[in-house]
Amino acid sequence: MRSVHLKKKHSKESIREILETANLQPTVQRLSLLQYLLEDADHPTAEQVRDWAYGHLGQISQATVYNTLNSLVSAGIIRQFKFGHSDCVIYDCNISDHVHFLDETSGKLFDIQTHEIKLKSRLPDHFQLKSIDILFRGTVDPKGQNLQAKGTNQR
Ligand SMILES: [Zn+2]
Repeated sequence: MRSVHLKKKHSKESIREILETANLQPTVQRLSLLQYLLEDADHPTAEQVRDWAYGHLGQISQATVYNTLNSLVSAGIIRQFKFGHSDCVIYDCNISDHVHFLDETSGKLFDIQTHEIKLKSRLPDHFQLKSIDILFRGTVDPKGQNLQAKGTNQR
């Protein structure tokens, strides 16, 4: 299993490198928000990122937070998606192929690697698949470690 997307500590240099590789100026806001997204956030909404920024970065406007998120999405560093379970756009720093499992009890989203599910598509030849957005819904037994053991949300 690839481990790039696992939550782990990133050095300031590695975060700066991610931004520079994507041709983004490593501003203080981008560095801080990206570090938060990579290390602490778990499928946050824009509002959750904004609230974190207000609490941790002091003087930062909502527009700056949202613009920063948009620039990170445009650069392909994080991605955003929207599912029917919520009106909110959700940000994800796991940009590898994966689908999501929604624990309807806690509202938490778990990453499920695509190789852990069997999906057979019979798309017509002239349909070119770009990405798959699938949301599994159910419950996760807090005592069961099945998802946790296989999941990708561990630190
Ligand atoms: Zn995800």
